[in-house]
Amino acid sequence: MSSPLDRPEVEEIKQIVRDIVAKVSPPARIHELDEAETYDEALWTALAEAGLVQLGAESDGSASASHLSQAAVLEELGASATSMAVSFVVQYMGVSLLGKHGTAEQRARVLEPLVVGEGRVAFALTEPDGGTDVVRVMRTQAERVADGWRIRGAKLWISGAIDCKHLIVLARTSESSGSSVSGVTMFLVPRDAAGVSVSELNTMAIHGLSTCEVGFDDVLVGEDAVLGEVDRGFHQVLGTLNGERLNAAAVAVGIGRGALDAAVDYATARQAFGRPIGTFQALQHRLATGAIHLESARSLLYAAATAADTGEDAAVLSAMAKVAASDAATELTDTGMRVMGGSGLSREYPMQRFFRDARLYTFAPLTDEMMRNFIAERYLGLPRSY
Ligand SMILES: Cc1cc2nc3c(=O)[nH]c(=O)nc-3n(C[C@H](O)[C@H](O)[C@H](O)COP(=O)(O)OP(=O)(O)OC[C@H]3O[C@@H](n4cnc5c(N)ncnc54)[C@H](O)[C@@H]3O)c2cc1C
Repeated sequence: MSSPLDRPEVEEIKQIVRDIVAKVSPPARIHELDEAETYDEALWTALAEAGLVQLGAESDGSASASHLSQAAVLEELGASATSMAVSFVVQYMGVSLLGKHGTAEQRARVLEPLVVGEGRVAFALTEPDGGTDVVRVMRTQAERVADGWRIRGAKLWISGAIDCKHLIVLARTSESSGSSVSGVTMFLVPRDAAGVSVSELNTMAIHGLSTCEVGFDDVLVGEDAVLGEVDRGFHQVLGTLNGERLNAAAVAVGIGRGALDAAVDYATARQAFGRPIGTFQALQHRLATGAIHLESARSLLYAAATAADTGEDAAVLSAMAKVAASDAATELTDTGMRVMGGSGLSREYPMQRFFRDARLYTFAPLTDEMMRNFIAERYLGLPRSY
């Protein structure tokens, strides 16, 4: 379903993605790979060859204003190949961090191959003791040794770690002083470095992308592994959080749209009492309400992305877009399941995949509760609740 909010430049990017997905990964293949819990390498390569990983990175590696373009790519993938959409969120974060904080050598070694589809990255922040309060509970440590650093610890729920080329790892490098977010450093760790172990976790969703536990057992890396400034890694990550929120919102809008389209198709074809079930007002109103919430979320998303692209403060709008989009996606996937009756539970239909995959962006990269905390504090001026 096309959106009245889509301007020609957004529609153009969506059409490029739609054509690639239709050619390389039609619905039957998306279904097959999701069932086999396998990454779609062919689709990744085709999207990278079309220059879609490159969005957000200039040829010299510097970051550029491209939030709206990234949102268009992610919505379209979210509406079709949801796991690839999640993989792209991680790659765009890598592109942003490497573009902003990488040295010329790191950009040549990691960013340049990444944007042409060679050597994906994984982003390893969350730990077994928690994701929301991760800085306080962070146990992964890096200590200085001759010629570099020794990293010890473990990370949990890391997307795409099994087959990435590099991990962007946050580790504690000194006790926090003053601000609680200091004392953490970002490292670029090769996936095949001695002492790195990756095991896949058994999750209910995002089956086309690995979700992993990663261990660091006395991993030795050189000085050239430090990405950005020592002890300022979390500050640097916070600087990309807007983009993360926007990109999570874009995937959620895509999932909501995919579910709405599938539900309308089903409601048009399925008959009851001698007529299509889509003629019943009870279903029409649920679908219409979902459509209103979807367009409201998209409207916030485009406003936030445009503000971010023009250098305005987009923090509150981005947080609102993220919550509105995850609410719309969970509502529409629930509506879709209801419209489909028993068929909703059939693995032959994509609805159950949308229903499962929509869960991710209710808590990642930050939970909707933390987004609401932020809105209460920043927009409403209320005291911090935690
Ligand atoms: C499939 C998948 C992929 C992921 N990919 C990555 C990845 O690539 N890299 C990465 O680093 N992480 C990744 N994550 C981790 C994800 O970012 C975390 O799950 C998320 O940040 C939440 O952390 P948590 O699960 O530890 O929940 P917790 O922090 O334990 O939170 C539990 C509950 O407590 C609530 N809560 C906590 N504090 C407050 C508060 N102050 N006020 C109100 N409520 C509060 C939360 O909102 C939530 O409802 C992934 C997770 C999954 C499942």
